[in-house]
Amino acid sequence: MPLPLLLVEDDAVLADGLVRTLQAQDMQVEVLRDGIKADARLQGNQPTVVVLDIGLPGIDGFEVLRRLRARGTTTPVLLLTARDAVEDRVRGLEAGADDYLVKPFASAELVARIRALARRVAPPPSQLGLGSLSLDSSTRRARVGERPLELSAREWGVLEYLLLHAGRVVSKQQIIDAIAPWGDDLTLNAVEVYVSRLRLKLDGAGVAIRTIRGFGYLLEAGD
Ligand code: CA
Repeated sequence: MPLPLLLVEDDAVLADGLVRTLQAQDMQVEVLRDGIKADARLQGNQPTVVVLDIGLPGIDGFEVLRRLRARGTTTPVLLLTARDAVEDRVRGLEAGADDYLVKPFASAELVARIRALARRVAPPPSQLGLGSLSLDSSTRRARVGERPLELSAREWGVLEYLLLHAGRVVSKQQIIDAIAPWGDDLTLNAVEVYVSRLRLKLDGAGVAIRTIRGFGYLLEAGD
């Protein structure tokens, strides 16, 4: 079931990019671009997680958050800040934020933080697995049978994305959108490199990453 998420972000380019990424991660994203609308929206039925920018037209993210908590609402809130100022983080956490991310951030990190917040209010999702491969997103441990699998962060990102979409064809661009940091140039060639490394590491795991020529990949059971 898609995870209902409210994104409050006035930067249209950033918001559009985030929506694409989060939808690809099976999240149902509602976007608002100003603080007053967000405050009104949050007086209604609650999303599972709120991703809230601090600098907003109308009222800022701190004030949206303060009003939310003043109503006694415990919906998890992740603050986005453009500033790396310690006082902003402290102020956000004091206002009742559950977590924060400083821009620019990796989309994979945002996804991981949102999932972590959602887990606090929902039963933990089952582990991802196929063949003798298993991935535990909460501990970020991967195994083939009992053998631990050592993966770089990027390899983890590619493999997790493929597993989440096992049996379906995914494009290289979808993988990039899901795992690349904002403004970070991850090329199609780099994705090919990660996939070829994963194929070596997954030898004997009973899973195959098939190449769909000119498009992307398909993860399925088999050798
Ligand atoms: Ca802003």
